[in-house]
Amino acid sequence: MTKQTPIRAAAAYTLPITEKDALRTALAEANLPTLLMVYTTIRQDRAYLEGFAPYLTGAYTAGAPCDVPEAMAQDLRDRLFALLTDPHPPVEQPMDHDLLRTMMSVSVGEQVDPTIVPVLYDQMGFEQAVPRKEQPGRPLPPAGFRVLVIGGGMTGIAAGIKLAEAGYDYSIIEKNDELGGTWYENRYPGVGVDTPSHFYSYSFELNPDWSTYHPKGGEVQNYLTGVADKHGVRDHVRFGTSVVEARWDDAQGQWSVTLRDVRTGAETVETARAVILAHGVLNRWSMPAIPGLDGFKGIKMHTAGWDPDVDLKGKRVAVIGTGASAAQLAPAIADTVSDLVIFQRSKHWVLNSPERNADTVTDGIRFALRHIPHYKEWYRFRVYWFTGDGLYGNVLMDENWGNKDVSISAQNDAARSYALSYIQDKLKNRPDLLEKMVPDYPIFGKRIVLDAEGGWLDTLLKPNVTLETGAIDHVDDHAIVMKNGDRYEVDVIALATGFELTPALGPLKVYGRNGADLAAAWGKDDARAYLGVMAPDYPNFFLTLGPNSAPNHAAGVNMVLEAQIHFIIEAMDMVVASGASAIEPTTRAYLDWNAKVEHQMQHMIWSHPKAKSYYLNSKGRNFVSCPFKLADYWNWTRTPDTKAMQIS
Ligand code: NAP
Repeated sequence: MTKQTPIRAAAAYTLPITEKDALRTALAEANLPTLLMVYTTIRQDRAYLEGFAPYLTGAYTAGAPCDVPEAMAQDLRDRLFALLTDPHPPVEQPMDHDLLRTMMSVSVGEQVDPTIVPVLYDQMGFEQAVPRKEQPGRPLPPAGFRVLVIGGGMTGIAAGIKLAEAGYDYSIIEKNDELGGTWYENRYPGVGVDTPSHFYSYSFELNPDWSTYHPKGGEVQNYLTGVADKHGVRDHVRFGTSVVEARWDDAQGQWSVTLRDVRTGAETVETARAVILAHGVLNRWSMPAIPGLDGFKGIKMHTAGWDPDVDLKGKRVAVIGTGASAAQLAPAIADTVSDLVIFQRSKHWVLNSPERNADTVTDGIRFALRHIPHYKEWYRFRVYWFTGDGLYGNVLMDENWGNKDVSISAQNDAARSYALSYIQDKLKNRPDLLEKMVPDYPIFGKRIVLDAEGGWLDTLLKPNVTLETGAIDHVDDHAIVMKNGDRYEVDVIALATGFELTPALGPLKVYGRNGADLAAAWGKDDARAYLGVMAPDYPNFFLTLGPNSAPNHAAGVNMVLEAQIHFIIEAMDMVVASGASAIEPTTRAYLDWNAKVEHQMQHMIWSHPKAKSYYLNSKGRNFVSCPFKLADYWNWTRTPDTKAMQIS
């Protein structure tokens, strides 16, 4: 990003807009702060921008409502209407950084730190970077520098696109018969994404056409496969194939990778100069070790292995687990089944997410996203701000905060009060449920459940729904039997019991220099890496969403995976540029990074004595979460630090 920022040419949009009625509707329905940013991008009228500042105080709203006086709002819409329908479209000028930062600050009603403007700008999707292979002076990867990507989900698809843009030959090895990963596999009723998709999507492929702000799984899957097809990724994918082993060959400076045909079991060996592990973190099903479960005579399905052909109409259904998957599944099936028993082992905080109540993206707003120049980029900024690093204060302990038993900071306490009053209000006529639902640990100690009208809590109130919090003893042929002897006869058991995150490599074997065994180095559940991406002794082996790089304070997995892919390609470019064959972090850099993670982790909510979650390993160490802001992590992964790298 240069000092003078060339906002993408208006030519990417067609001006003037001739569908005047549609434009009027769009302007009436669109998010006003976002319209103000569009106007300022084109006109760069600082005084006009600042006139709105007192009224924009930072509420995240998808549509039009805000505190701007109607006369001002209408003036803005009229100005935009005139600009966008002018037969002589305005010519956009480069924008200086200070104006960009001021716009961001006015838009969200708080000061945006100048140091994070570049990350925001990148993630807004404004600047379509020149593809690496077209960058003058950059050495092209030599023929035969092949990269093997393990997994064709959201990360693997992005990796393929960016590798091709950088001129690397690549293959994606995918165990399924289709791309999409999580979004291909998870087909349980109600499956969807909590992160608003105007952010949970690639910054280089903004989609103006989302039908809702929190799309269901099928729409996310269609988006991912659509992007993959647009970029020709599919031609590089070996479907129905899993990776069994990767072994570094020091003499040849390459990996030997053993692949297995999922259907026939036949194994083949291929070589690659680099391997990117994009197999997904939430991928291997966690099946509860409940005695008798295997012998259950009815139907049992993990949420991630749902059979959509199973007809639940009139059936007695048990759901085991009360995390994010259960909270989507139960509302989607409660009215179809005859009885629904939900088994809760521990309590999860439930947070109201009111914008879900008006979840449809109206035609007017879709028109704005598609046709009004830069609306979708500025809207994405807004979503990032309110669902991303703006939430960091929720998970960072304030050392001066008094009683840390129930909350850890002012922001965390406010979130707790907000969640608590929602739960109390919803369950006010059911003291029994209230007792079962309010956690005793600070909010965000484990992943929250996001709720809305007609969602999770309303489902628990339904007459055919029971929340059981006792301990399960065993399952027999037709029932779940409790320790106290109660029996729940059911036809279907839905296992919303989450995923195995350990061992981090799953069944994959990785042998680095001198046969170093990565699974052994990490032990059962003690994975560590440099920046969550690389480890010494494993040259040209790159992890994605690896140890301590999950953005658990906020939405942003999309942002982390893009940052990591960028870093990986930068690292490989260093190898190519130096004519060497391998790159890996120094042991010093690896140790320092992990010490930094561990130090910061002590200040995070996940280290609270009452916080228990799948982020923690058997020793209580959080090996999953990134304890830093997304913006910081993005900055650290821009360019590999040459002092931290060993090139050979
Ligand atoms: P999860 O958050 O790990 O929840 C699993 C649930 O099953 C927990 O309530 C857990 O209880 C319970 N459980 C596990 N083993 C059990 C056993 N043996 N007996 C009784 N209960 C048991 O799994 P998830 O809901 O599938 O979500 C996993 C992750 O996927 C989420 O954290 C999120 O990152 C992602 N996800 C996102 C969305 C979304 O965006 N809307 C939707 C689904 C999933 P304990 O709490 O006691 O462990």
